[in-house]
Amino acid sequence: MNWPLARLALLVCALLLPAASSGAAPAAHQIRVRIEPETQVLEGRDSIRFDTPRAATLVLSARFRIDSLQADARRIAPAPTLDQGFQRIVLPAARRIELRWSGKLAVLDQNLEHRDTLSYSLPASAGEGTFLPSGSGWYPMVDASLESYELELDLPADQRGLVPGRLLAENQSGGRYRARFAFRQPAEGISLMAGPYRIEDRLVRTAAGSEVRLRTYFHAAIAGLAAGYLDSVAGYLDLYERWIGAYPFSEFSVVSSPTPTGFGMPTLTYLGIEVLRLPFIRATSLGHEVLHNWWGNGVYPDYARGNWSEGLTNFMADYAYRERESPEAARAMRLAWLRDYAAMPPGDDTPLARFTSRTHGASQIVGYNKAAMLFYMLRDAVGEAAFDAAVRGFWSANRFRIASWDDLRGAFERASGQDLVAFFAQWLQRTGAPNLRIADAKAEPVAGGWRLSVTLAQGSPAYALSVPLAVRTAGGDITRRIELSRERETAVLELPAEPQQITLDPELRLLRRLAAGEAPPILREAMLAGNPALVMATANAAVEQAARELAASLFERAPAERKSASTQLVVGLHADIDAWLAREGLESRPAMLAATRGSAQVWTQRSGDGRISVFVSVRDAPSVLALARPLPHYGRESYLVFEGARAIERGTWPARPQVWILK
Ligand SMILES: [Zn+2]
Repeated sequence: MNWPLARLALLVCALLLPAASSGAAPAAHQIRVRIEPETQVLEGRDSIRFDTPRAATLVLSARFRIDSLQADARRIAPAPTLDQGFQRIVLPAARRIELRWSGKLAVLDQNLEHRDTLSYSLPASAGEGTFLPSGSGWYPMVDASLESYELELDLPADQRGLVPGRLLAENQSGGRYRARFAFRQPAEGISLMAGPYRIEDRLVRTAAGSEVRLRTYFHAAIAGLAAGYLDSVAGYLDLYERWIGAYPFSEFSVVSSPTPTGFGMPTLTYLGIEVLRLPFIRATSLGHEVLHNWWGNGVYPDYARGNWSEGLTNFMADYAYRERESPEAARAMRLAWLRDYAAMPPGDDTPLARFTSRTHGASQIVGYNKAAMLFYMLRDAVGEAAFDAAVRGFWSANRFRIASWDDLRGAFERASGQDLVAFFAQWLQRTGAPNLRIADAKAEPVAGGWRLSVTLAQGSPAYALSVPLAVRTAGGDITRRIELSRERETAVLELPAEPQQITLDPELRLLRRLAAGEAPPILREAMLAGNPALVMATANAAVEQAARELAASLFERAPAERKSASTQLVVGLHADIDAWLAREGLESRPAMLAATRGSAQVWTQRSGDGRISVFVSVRDAPSVLALARPLPHYGRESYLVFEGARAIERGTWPARPQVWILK
């Protein structure tokens, strides 16, 4: 499944990997392909070999003509059947298939929106860029088979291009650029990229002693960023070789795209020019993509039994970088995960074991964030040394193989000596998370100190949890863990001094459903709402029209009737909104936004019945329209001030931890 980045600000990669193949004998392609980006002409020839003769179905995009076809040197008149834009050609058993094809690619549209997922499944080309995704049928895919390949690419002299794999040779002559690549491991499809690139090339010797070729293929407009990107890639290779094991490939390239994509593939990442310009990409997403060469493209997830690779990559890349920054930055990321989780309608939740790839906001919250939290809790349970040993063991045992959550569990059990069946089962197989709270607490003086009885409750069915409690005493703060396995349980703590207050899981070490005060309303909650409503607090027709467009870009579902809505988006001019709030008897505009700064102000409010309102207060109709693109990127905020399309101020309402006051 190929998914582009849905939302830039939440840059999360999409691995270009289709569902795991059936295990039929692998095919070896020998492809030569000529591409003329200006005219979208493609001409290809492929020689496909099998180790033993087998029947095969070739799948090719219906946009191409088959110019010739042979099976074991016998000419065959192709009789394709058409199926949803593809032609399928059933062939008799053969050891070798020769096929020539040609036709025109789609015109690459540089103005693609992030969400135009369908457009990204077409093979498309233009002078500014060519992207032929795996699965788009730009070459004859062998149905249900892993594929290794050698590929020669032939382009006009001002173009450069590549496919995943080792660069064998490249040259420029006769007004053409040619490059030859090989990918020897069985892979799940071939993606091809080309463009008017400038190549920066660097050979590095890695920590494990192998030589790796690092490259950028950048458009001229961002050529100045190349050296910095190469430095960062070298740093990430070093980090992960020491942490996991030797890098499994001989190259890594960062390739720019004229469209706002974000794809990870073996040996390369393909990112939009505008994405590469964002300063945080080098510090976060790039490392995430490099790490996918171990998790995802080095060990393949068993999609049928759940994709663990995004969670482990999120934990060992995005989250690990926060931990290196500071404990506060790491805690802030866990809080953001738990807030997102709290913002998800319970009906959208699914067991982690069912996550295959990111298709919408809820699947990201489960597949990336809940999964990363699982690894965080796992490290707490087994300790860092055992965690790292398990990661290395899992890698060396499963390199270039399909592995499941069960294989991961086995690696962690071997490294820690612990039975982790119950741990994995409760976080993988169930939907939801514990609703943990302090139900009661009492303290009494005893000989030599104080005795504190704390009753914890967590809802049903119960999880087995090791719950951290921070106890403030007259003699300082003390942190203790309480083992909880029932729905309600009382623990007794012996303390040296009188306890004053207890805070539940203050460091957010557990995956749990945050209480209302711990999870102040954020925009995401409205974006994911099951039945949102759009409320016009204005009589201005232009503002109303713009509000409908804003609602369409913000909500994942179409707005419904206000009566039954769990969330409402209230739009109006500044004076309209103030009047509306007064009429409805709601809290007035927050003091910090009262100066009506900016062209638009957006804020969230939770009413007593738990419903969320998002207020959009604007100067005029164009100020509403200006929000349609940027606002969905700010799902983790509670309030924002915009000047046009630019957020000039933003933040979340303060969170209040769960505290029990004893005196
Ligand atoms: Zn990823």
